[in-house]
Amino acid sequence: MAVLIYIEQEAGGIKKSSLEAVSYGRTLADSLGTSALAVGLGPISTEEWTKVGKAGAVKGIHVADERLSAGIIQAHASAIADVFSYVDADILVLAKSSLGDAVAARLSVKLQAGLVSNVAALPDLSEGFTVKRSIFTGKAFAFTAIKTVKKILAIKKNILDIREEDHDLVVEVRQSSLGEEVFSAKITGMQKAEGQVSLPEADIVVSGGRGLKGPENWNLIEDLARELGAATGCSKPVSDLNWRPHHEHVGQTGIKVSPTLYVAVGISGAIQHLAGVNSSKKILVINKDPEAPFFKAADYGIVGDAFEVLPKLTDAVKAIK
Ligand SMILES: Cc1cc2nc3c(=O)[nH]c(=O)nc-3n(C[C@H](O)[C@H](O)[C@H](O)COP(=O)(O)OP(=O)(O)OC[C@H]3O[C@@H](n4cnc5c(N)ncnc54)[C@H](O)[C@@H]3O)c2cc1C
Repeated sequence: MAVLIYIEQEAGGIKKSSLEAVSYGRTLADSLGTSALAVGLGPISTEEWTKVGKAGAVKGIHVADERLSAGIIQAHASAIADVFSYVDADILVLAKSSLGDAVAARLSVKLQAGLVSNVAALPDLSEGFTVKRSIFTGKAFAFTAIKTVKKILAIKKNILDIREEDHDLVVEVRQSSLGEEVFSAKITGMQKAEGQVSLPEADIVVSGGRGLKGPENWNLIEDLARELGAATGCSKPVSDLNWRPHHEHVGQTGIKVSPTLYVAVGISGAIQHLAGVNSSKKILVINKDPEAPFFKAADYGIVGDAFEVLPKLTDAVKAIK
């Protein structure tokens, strides 16, 4: 019995959320008295595997098949199912993501495994295997008992810190036995969202609302984001007004983010916006109205005019750097 962790890549690197999943899997494996192994698909550099080891995996299984570098769901599910039985695993851990969810659903059928997604804590093993999951866009939790021997857990971002182990990871290369039939869907092109940092994966997000008055003022948001190495986001009305592209819209009907720091500038803090940001570790709100509802959800607040506060904040960050 082992815990297998599926690691996802983005732009040649292992996703932060996958490293969190590795640390989750390792902690779970320790409490079950078993080992945490990671499975990586497609080309992965030695440097990236080292990160996986530091995050807690004791061994990596690398299916280096070039065809797996595109995230073809069916192919990933087949490759993981093969490794799952090869290492005699009982539990699969992966990061919750659009690819992760799709792969997990297929594997649940293939492996006859109970699946819980959006897992928000380590399972309670005192009576069986009960998993806490986040529901209703983070407003409540459900507790789900998994009764099957094989289990799949898709982990919500930012629920735990990445471990810093000090050991060398052994990586075993496993030959791919995948036939062409699992590659029947082909990704024929990809259009990347603009901006330096991907919004769903970002560690820091600087978001602007209608308080910014118009698209011509977005340089203030972008300047601060650049200095912080942050992604940029916005409220729904801002994208509806075409001040910003729709893929930046954060909230219940947009992207859900889980950064370490969410900076909300000129955003009122309507419940639909908060639904997309309430997994953030820390929230800084900048608003000229001291009664703005967002302040109730904030860890830090600046009551002031964004047009005065933002340039000063950006200069202060520059000075620290
Ligand atoms: C079904 C449904 C789904 C929705 N989904 C979403 C969603 O996913 N995401 C989302 O964001 N919204 C969503 N909304 C809309 C949501 O209810 C709010 O209307 C919206 O979030 C408000 O956007 P805002 O805060 O940018 O604008 P406003 O409500 O206009 O607030 C602007 C804020 O800026 C402040 N401000 C003004 N000038 C300055 C200044 N110079 N300096 C500093 N602060 C200033 C004001 O005090 C105010 O608090 C949804 C609504 C519905 C009905």
